[in-house]
This record gives sequence, C-alpha cells and structure tokens, in this order.
Amino acid sequence: MSFVQIENVTKSYTKNKVLDKVSLTIEEGEFITLLGPSGCGKSTLLRAIAGLNDIDTGAIIIGGKDITCMPPKKRNIGMVFQSYALFPNMTVYDNIAFGLKMDGLSKKQIIPLVEEMLDVIDLRGKENHYPNQLSGGQQQRVALARALVKKPTVLLLDEPLSALDAKIRRILRNEIRRIQQRLNMTTVFVTHDQEEALSVSDRIYIMNHGTVEQVGTPNEIYNKPRTEFVARFIGNYNVWSRDQVESASLNGAPVQGNMFAVRPEAIQLFELRDADPLTDYTASGTITFMTILGNVIRYEINVDGLNVKVDRLNDLGLDSLNVGSVVKLNIPLEEWKHIEKTV
Ligand code: ADP
Ligand code: MG
Repeated sequence: MSFVQIENVTKSYTKNKVLDKVSLTIEEGEFITLLGPSGCGKSTLLRAIAGLNDIDTGAIIIGGKDITCMPPKKRNIGMVFQSYALFPNMTVYDNIAFGLKMDGLSKKQIIPLVEEMLDVIDLRGKENHYPNQLSGGQQQRVALARALVKKPTVLLLDEPLSALDAKIRRILRNEIRRIQQRLNMTTVFVTHDQEEALSVSDRIYIMNHGTVEQVGTPNEIYNKPRTEFVARFIGNYNVWSRDQVESASLNGAPVQGNMFAVRPEAIQLFELRDADPLTDYTASGTITFMTILGNVIRYEINVDGLNVKVDRLNDLGLDSLNVGSVVKLNIPLEEWKHIEKTV
C-alpha cells in the first residue's frame, strides 16, 4: 500500500466537473508533480488533499488512515502557495515560529526547531529581517520553512515558483528538490511548466480536464508520450496524423498507427551537398525559420506544406544552413512514437 492513496476523487462546482475519478499514489519520500494547463484541476486536487475543499466522491488515505472527512487542522499537511503569504509585521524568525506557537509549544522547544529550519533554507543571519527586506526567492524559502517546521506528513506546493523571475525559479526549484530529498519529505508539487516538472520530479502526473492523462518518470513521460495532448504539452514534439504524413509524402513512417509524435532532436538534417544520392531520405524541404536557443539551433522546415521542427546541436559555424536552404531529412523508424489522438 502506498503512503498516500487518492482513490476515484470526483469534485464538481455546480455543473462543472473539475475532478473526474482521479486516482493517484505517492510513496513515502517521493516527489510527485501534478502538471497540466491552467484550469485542469490541479489546485482543486491539492486543496482536497489538504482538506481545504471537500470532495463529492472518492477517498484520500494517508499512512493507511482514511482522512477524507478529517478537518484540515488535524491532517498535519504543509502547504506553500504562489503568493508567499508571510506576515509582513513579523520577522523571519517569528514567521517560521508562528505555527509552533499556535500549537502551544514553549519558547525552549521552538528555538531549536526554527534554527534547524533556518539552516535548511540557508537564511541564518536573516532571522530578524522582515519580509519586505527579503527578495522574492528568500520570502518563498521562509514560506517553505514555515510549512516544514511542523514536520508535516505531506508537503503540498501549489505553483510556488510562479511569481519569481526565471533565473531565481531555476535556482529555487533545485533547492526545493535538495531540501525535499534531505528531509525525505513526501511532496506534491503543482506546476504548469513542463521543464520545471521534468527537472525535479520522481514521477509526473499529467492532468487534462480533471483527469489523469499519463503517469510516469520524467524520462518515460518525455520519451513515451501516450497521447497527442501529452506530446504537445510536454515538449516541442512534431505531432502528425497519418493523413498529414501521407499528403506531405514523408517516407519511412511505421505501417501501423494513425497518429505520430517525433522529437525535433531525433530528426537528422543534411545539407543538400552532403546528402547521399543513394539514400532514401524521409523527406526534403526548405528551411523557413531558424532560431538559436544557445546550445541548440531550432529549424522549421516546410515539407510539402507541412511544418517540421528540427533541433540540432549548435556546433559553431560548422554548417551553412539558413532560411531558404533546401535540406534532406531523415527520421529513424524507432523515432516515430505512436500516440492516441486527443479529442
Ligand atoms: P488549476 O489549479 O489546474 O489551474 P483549479 O483547480 O484552480 O485549476 O480549477 C479547476 C476548475 O475549477 C476551473 O475551471 C475553475 O474555474 C474551477 N473552480 C475552482 N475553484 C472554484 C470555486 N471555488 N468555485 C467554482 N469553480 C471553481
Ligand atoms: Mg492552480
């Protein structure tokens, strides 16, 4: 039995079904991510775990105990939101200590717990600062400490990085992951950012319209998208129907299947002068767009009206490909991933 079991949870607001028989499991110490577009029900599910909203049917079981009807206070679940929601008139120390004070712990009991947390979030020396004297990233670390100091059974993080700028976001997500691993904290992280999800999670639950579309490790999700929705959402996949493949005369597609996803980095690109005249290439086309992403150059190629995305390592001026260049493409057979159409 898993540490956390969410079983067939359904929730509607008036006629709007927001969660439709959602089931998921979380092992002790595992970091899972709910990934999906805005409005797919991620926060509703998180709030249901915390007990902040009730559910219509289903069960929530933590540590073998059915907590579906337990009041939020008794669940001992930690939660961090996008807005840091710190008390502005309290110091860092008092913000972290607040929940422990409310629980009636003595000063003597509180001090070592808060100090431990200051170390965990690396804000020793800032304990007497007020929130407005801290950066956004530091404030979010305090919010994290405030949740962790009570040693929750499960930590819930609802888009905790969304209000921060890109660089801090990347640093803090790694920090959250390190802290989570160090404390072996069972964690549910919510995001709509696929890169964030891929980089920190043990497993990802991809949600769409109140249902779970696919579950897997980051590698499984990225390399084996099950549906069109996942392929489009998780990466920069080319998604083609059999009709598109045939009308653009792309060669070499699998004999079976009606819908395919192909990773842009898996497509081989050849300058015309380097193409082997004896090879049966998948297609030829013309570059219509190119953009340098740093280590990778992304091309868009028009193949009989079909837009094909190709990524190549940016190996310093080794080729002369440009918008307007005619190229040959090759897609190895194993790179055609079969996916289900999403309606
Ligand atoms: P996410 O966190 O994935 O963006 P939410 O769980 O916040 O999605 O919302 C899912 C859907 O439920 C949305 O369509 C939203 O408008 C609706 N919803 C959320 N909370 C309420 C509420 N309290 N009353 C009515 N509808 C709500
Ligand atoms: Mg949300």
